[in-house]
Amino acid sequence: MIKSFLKLNLIAIRSLSRDTVRTYCVCTNTCWSCRKPLVTSNKFFCASCGSLQKVKNADFFTLLDVPNTFSVNTSILSSNFRQLQTILHPDKFSQKSDKEKMNSLEWSSLINKAYKTLSIPLERAIYILHKKGISIDEENTSVDPDFLSDVMDLNEQVEEAASTTDLEAIAKSLNSDVDHLYTSLHKYFSSNELDKAKSTLVRLKYLLNIDSVIKQKQLKYKLQ
Ligand SMILES: [Zn+2]
Repeated sequence: MIKSFLKLNLIAIRSLSRDTVRTYCVCTNTCWSCRKPLVTSNKFFCASCGSLQKVKNADFFTLLDVPNTFSVNTSILSSNFRQLQTILHPDKFSQKSDKEKMNSLEWSSLINKAYKTLSIPLERAIYILHKKGISIDEENTSVDPDFLSDVMDLNEQVEEAASTTDLEAIAKSLNSDVDHLYTSLHKYFSSNELDKAKSTLVRLKYLLNIDSVIKQKQLKYKLQ
């Protein structure tokens, strides 16, 4: 639908004269309510009439106003998120027009998604690589056979674990490996060694999968 919308607009732009095109382009940066030009430093509201603007596809780091880095300051991230959540929450727009109500719903949902992505280290790393055009699709990523064999051993140990004590012992060693991988990930992102960051991330995914199986099994034992 977006594609056809863009196509239609493109056709419309092509059919316009040069001067009108210029006007058209300016119009896309004007307030939907008062038609005055928007100030780019204000991501959400019109500086003239205060109307909440339409959602724009924004980079998550820019949206939450934190530096684009894996070693993000999580307390600043949370505080910025809470602040935006307060400003843009749909409850704040209950007395406003339908358009602003819709805009606030869309902004809130985008901000929640951005915060969820950036606050979980694994998701944050995937997002950074994705923005750089690097996919961590496991099927297309070669993994060291020795590592895969260790993963298989660990899976077997989890399967054979007969008590929560057994599981705790496996989890303890696993968590230490996970911590090491996170340390490497910080290092590789800060030195911009993205291939190494990618292979570390794939390993992390394998280990975190095992960790979630351990947690499920522990819960099952506790409920028995
Ligand atoms: Zn306005």
